Amino acid sequence: MRNFLNMLENKFNIINVNQELSTKFEAAKTLRSHPKDLIILKNMKESPIRVISGICNTREKIAIALSCEVSEITFKIIEAMENPMPISNIESVSENFHQSRNVDLNELPILHHYKKDGGAYITAGVIIAKDPDTGVRNASIHRMLVLGKDRLAVRIVPRHLYTYYKRAEELGKPLDIAIAIGIHPATLLATTTSIPFNADELEVANHFHKGEMKLIKCETVDLEVPECEILLEGHLIPFERAKEGPFVDLTDTYDVIRDEPVIELKRMHLKEDPLYHAILPAGFEHRLLQGLPQEPRIYNAVLNTLPTVRNVVLTEGGCCWLHAAVSIKKQTQGDGKNVIMAALAAHPSLKHVVVVDEDINIFDPEDVEYAIATRVKGDDDVLIVPKARGSSLDPCALPDGTTTKVGVDATKPLNNKNKFERVSLSE
Ligand code: MN
Repeated sequence: MRNFLNMLENKFNIINVNQELSTKFEAAKTLRSHPKDLIILKNMKESPIRVISGICNTREKIAIALSCEVSEITFKIIEAMENPMPISNIESVSENFHQSRNVDLNELPILHHYKKDGGAYITAGVIIAKDPDTGVRNASIHRMLVLGKDRLAVRIVPRHLYTYYKRAEELGKPLDIAIAIGIHPATLLATTTSIPFNADELEVANHFHKGEMKLIKCETVDLEVPECEILLEGHLIPFERAKEGPFVDLTDTYDVIRDEPVIELKRMHLKEDPLYHAILPAGFEHRLLQGLPQEPRIYNAVLNTLPTVRNVVLTEGGCCWLHAAVSIKKQTQGDGKNVIMAALAAHPSLKHVVVVDEDINIFDPEDVEYAIATRVKGDDDVLIVPKARGSSLDPCALPDGTTTKVGVDATKPLNNKNKFERVSLSE
């Protein structure tokens, strides 16, 4: 992460906060007041360790992390998911960390973000584990509620880590894990991609790093982790559950309390003067990390329907989850409607989608609104799909999980193009 910070330093203003702040509410409040900035909290009341946030809270920063332009991010993610690169450069804990000792989570500046939260939460922790049967590695980001000095409750949705844990339970064994905090944004992004069960997210990350990624071999568990500021080692306890929640999800509304697995930690390794990465719940960093890896799904589904699709974005205003904008080179009247149907089906959580021509910049909400304002005739161009399966995060969703989906075709009609020509874009 340090080399990435050096790269950002030339292009973005880093806000250093020297004022003493508590991990309880005060830090989160400061982060909220700088939604798109990179910020370092240097003086935490409860810990000597500094807090960093906002390393990837804009598409511009993510583009730098992936060495591409903002408009190329989706294609970069597709390329990396399809071409994972094995990692052979493995170093030891002692080569990489300044201090190692038994875990005491009280030493870390773990934030308690909002008043109704279940407690203090680790929000930028990537859990690394291996399939108990095949040894295939998994890396995924999870929210973790602090239960004690060496215990965490962890929200695990039924994907790869969940399957490993259930298998370990069947074998009656703990599942060894490592938690990496403070890692490069490209690596973080790779851990949120939906790749096949037998693929390794860290090898996807290595593609982002052009094959130059190194891993660190843990001390007490048989796992390798990406370079990080803080490394925790421990295991998921079989058959143990604890109350997890409430916690603010990316829609800026509360998720419910559930019974979730429990982690017991043993060792902790720290870089010299480490940076503890905190992702503000519902902030842009949270939204982009969760939403960006869904854009390839939508792009590929639309591509299947219309080869002249240009780009896809899950917009920040739509929580990078519920709203998409798709730009196309329209070739046949009705293309817009077909694209709406493909996009809504591709990402089941998608609620509203707008389709625009390629002269509209889908990364600019004002430009998208311009297309809706000048190119939409409501009775012709709006498609409403009631009672479709929606997002569990959508506050409008019915108890059975359905919601109403809306598609807006904001493309120009092909038979009257001149009337819609943007004068400012022509010579
Ligand atoms: Mn996996």
